[in-house]
Amino acid sequence: MGNIHLINIYYLNHRGFIAELDSVEAELELVELQISDLLDKQSKLTSQKNTLLRQLEDACSGVGPSSSKSAGPAISKQELKQYDDFPWSKELERHLKNTFHLSTFRPLQLRAINLTMAGRDLFVVMPTGRGKSLCFQLPALCSEGFTLVITPLVSLMEDQIMYLKSLDIPAVMLNASSSKEHAKLVMAGMSDPKAPFKLVYVTPEKIAKSKLLMSRLEKAYKAKLLSRIAVDEVHCCSQWGHDFRPDYKLLGILKRQFPSVPLFGLTATATSSVLKDCEKILCVQQPITITASFNRTNLYYEVRIKDSDNEALMSDITSLIKGKYKNQSGIVYVFSQKDAEMVSSELKKRDISAHPYHANMDPEDKSQVHRRWTSNKIQVVVATVAFGMGIDKPDVRFVIHHTISKSIENYYQESGRAGRDDHPADCIVYFGFADIFRISTMVVMENVGHKKLLQMVAYCQNVDRCRRSLMAVHFDEVWDDEGCNQMCDTCRYASMDITCHAKQVVQIIEQAGSMDEKVTPLKLVETWMGRGPAKLRKMIQTTNLPRLQAEAVIVSLLLQEYLREDYSFTPYTTYFYVKLGRKAPLLKKETHSVSMNMKTAGDGPSVVSSSYSPQAANSAGSK
Ligand code: ADP
Ligand code: MG
Ligand code: ZN
Repeated sequence: MGNIHLINIYYLNHRGFIAELDSVEAELELVELQISDLLDKQSKLTSQKNTLLRQLEDACSGVGPSSSKSAGPAISKQELKQYDDFPWSKELERHLKNTFHLSTFRPLQLRAINLTMAGRDLFVVMPTGRGKSLCFQLPALCSEGFTLVITPLVSLMEDQIMYLKSLDIPAVMLNASSSKEHAKLVMAGMSDPKAPFKLVYVTPEKIAKSKLLMSRLEKAYKAKLLSRIAVDEVHCCSQWGHDFRPDYKLLGILKRQFPSVPLFGLTATATSSVLKDCEKILCVQQPITITASFNRTNLYYEVRIKDSDNEALMSDITSLIKGKYKNQSGIVYVFSQKDAEMVSSELKKRDISAHPYHANMDPEDKSQVHRRWTSNKIQVVVATVAFGMGIDKPDVRFVIHHTISKSIENYYQESGRAGRDDHPADCIVYFGFADIFRISTMVVMENVGHKKLLQMVAYCQNVDRCRRSLMAVHFDEVWDDEGCNQMCDTCRYASMDITCHAKQVVQIIEQAGSMDEKVTPLKLVETWMGRGPAKLRKMIQTTNLPRLQAEAVIVSLLLQEYLREDYSFTPYTTYFYVKLGRKAPLLKKETHSVSMNMKTAGDGPSVVSSSYSPQAANSAGSK
């Protein structure tokens, strides 16, 4: 009697917990919905704020009316008109066409140029590759004397000097490896009223350490030959930025010694707190900051489920490159050097002109691949992330990720190499189950590496929010919400009930647990599909789902916390096991249901839609 009573109490307690858990769950879901609404609202307000700030700036600076948008299509002729009646406008136009051989300005370039020509201190925040350098190179040609440019890396300096030389623009550099004679020549030229060069590039170390340079600058300043100071990659000043360089911290001396010379900071990565810090360090008071939107409206974002069968995957990629992207230039990003070799040889086998690119190649081979791709002799570069700096091909029509990036920020940078000419271009990620764990074990040592990776996974797994809105969260201060205009794939998804699948998966892990076995993600899929060890197979229900859907369900259960990850370290490698997550007990309840979104049929040539019908899966459910 007593026993039964006790059991009843346990049972009631247990039921009490479950009921409470359920109501907390429900409340959480509500909160998540509210968060999502608030995020949308935040992005709208931020863009409204930016517009107002811009109008205010213009009102204060007296330099031309504001364009209503900070980015988007190139500035129209009409808009250009509003900007072109300054004393320097004719000369700018002439140099743009005849010296730089460019036809129009990109968004915000002309505004930035007019502001610095008007003598304002200015910070420009623009995504990489948008053309920040022109904003000081062109003014340098239209001003007396020379422009001093601070650049953190000698390689960046060399690239720019080479480019300027090819345009017959006199430019020189000073760095640790400059010869004595060269340095002497440069120093003498600085105070020459004939201004033998229009741009002088120096490293911050030179400013910090060379008294001779400072005294020459002093002389040039007095002779009114120092026309402007450009600090490239200005975020390097701030310890809060991701690329702090101690010598940048000493650059405040420039504004203190040369207060009347306009200072011009440029960066692709500053948040407003980093910029505030840079202002302080550089001793500029109330500079005007102009920010180009990081929203690349011409890029189409899509995620495809990656087939674990390499043959099927390669033929999917091939049909894209030979179909939609026929004769068009692109990049395929891969995880490792081995993958670069493998994927490029697979593509070659299929008659695609593809070449690998990775850090372990001979420098000469690397630059040859880069050159031949730039001149369209190679269609596709199959590259690791080593292919990054200095890529500046305007007509890249597709960036395909054979493996997901390790964070959304990385993905934004890598995919952003597409469509720099502002024409439409596609960014496609192949989202593979096993890749998550490959990257996971790689970033496990990085502080926030795992969290960032999960954000990338959530971006891929996401099926109900616009892909742009997911990116926007990471760039909230520099993202203008201009709408997506169907330039991402998520609007076409439908929700499906996966409760019965979830129960089966949880059962497998429970069974394995009772046998004291740990389950890797791959073993979990195999077992669930009926390919596991016989003793387990007898005790569980196997699934009829095709492998890709089975994998997608498991990832979704991980993200929804019905499952969780469990790392195990050995001296040689890191293992990833799957365990039951926080929400797993909820599945014991009859009324609890789980759903996930999936592509529906008719979404175009996606791997999922060809073999998957949501109706069939729904009717198999046991709601
Ligand atoms: P950022 O410093 O913003 O990363 P860069 O100044 O290096 O970008 O410029 C990237 C590329 O864009 C360069 O090849 C440059 O010639 C090109 N570019 C700049 N302005 C224009 C323009 N108005 N029209 C066409 N191409 C441009
Ligand atoms: Mg730059
Ligand atoms: Zn969208």
